[in-house]
Amino acid sequence: MELLTKMSHYMDRETPFYHYDLDLLSRTLDAMLSASSGYGFHVHYALKANSNREILERISAKGLGADCVSGNEITRAIETGFKKEDIAFAGVGKTDVEIKTGIENDIFSFNAESMQELEVINEIARAMGKKAPIALRINPNVNAKTHQYITTGLEENKFGINSWEFETVLEKLENLKNLELKGLHFHIGSQITDMSVFKGLCIRINEIQKWFVEHRIIAEHINVGGGLGVNYDHPDEKLIPDFDEFFKIFHDHLELYPNQELHFELGRALVAQCGNLITRVLYIKNGVNVDFAIVDAGMTELIRPALYESIHRIDKISVTENSVEKKYDVVGPICESSDCFAKSIILPELKRGDLLAIRSAGAYGEVMSSGYNLRSKVKTYYSER
Ligand SMILES: *Cc1c(COP(=O)(O)O)cnc(C)c1O
Repeated sequence: MELLTKMSHYMDRETPFYHYDLDLLSRTLDAMLSASSGYGFHVHYALKANSNREILERISAKGLGADCVSGNEITRAIETGFKKEDIAFAGVGKTDVEIKTGIENDIFSFNAESMQELEVINEIARAMGKKAPIALRINPNVNAKTHQYITTGLEENKFGINSWEFETVLEKLENLKNLELKGLHFHIGSQITDMSVFKGLCIRINEIQKWFVEHRIIAEHINVGGGLGVNYDHPDEKLIPDFDEFFKIFHDHLELYPNQELHFELGRALVAQCGNLITRVLYIKNGVNVDFAIVDAGMTELIRPALYESIHRIDKISVTENSVEKKYDVVGPICESSDCFAKSIILPELKRGDLLAIRSAGAYGEVMSSGYNLRSKVKTYYSER
């Protein structure tokens, strides 16, 4: 198995740890760039998916912009080589300090999510004697058909400005002299695998743009956010997402006005498959219908299964002599019943000391790790090729 050879130097390290395949990261970035650059699209990397410095440095070196959701992410993006003028700043709850950080650094845009936020950004910019670039984050009321916790583009969600507020927002902007309306921003959710959702988004954006154009506003840029999903069930069948198909949908269906730029904010699709969480079996315990494989990683290292009921493929990476297969619940050591990585999965028979790889853990894995139960900070190792 390819993964096994790549991480063979680390097999006897203390577990659990994240292993990142930087060669796969690089190939994923190249595939994305070759698919987007032909259309002249601009891509920002969403730091919240993985803000590990090694990874950020690789991504900034390829020339991507950054998409940040906190002041600390802005600082980290600058430290790791992203250009200030390519940083978009999103988030429903930007604090005054974070807004100042953005203004001081002359970032690309504040993706503003509410009317009150517009007033606050204006006030802070005025006090600093500057103009802040704004993209209105619009809630397009489009269903991303993904898990409810990672759907963000429905009216019932907390994100964005709703269509019935547009008129009032434009009136308000007339008087907010320290804001410069530069763009319209949309981000409807994450782990979107039904490509027709993106086509639906394009059609909705065309309608919304029409409204703005009728009100004499042609934005310099449209930002359609991220959300492209990855294959968690069978990662080896599709280690690199289909970026050609993804960008073509926007090229074919989104109506841009002359000189209007199209921006994307991809997180998961760029980093999910390059990371695996490596863990060791501590104990095998016989249950009623299945056996429990109790491993040394838990929801403290990878919370996605507990938080979103998400699936991660699990591979045994220790060499097996016999080929008996058994059914297991793979569970962590944390004192919560939700601390379970997989239920009733078939694996080659496991014993204490065996190593498992929890696959596709490069996005929303390490970044969400915690010290609950006073756990140690999870370690990271890298392979170049
Ligand atoms: C999380 C987020 C993204 C990235 O989403 P992915 O599903 O990881 O591609 C992009 N834009 C905004 C505003 C976000 O909050």
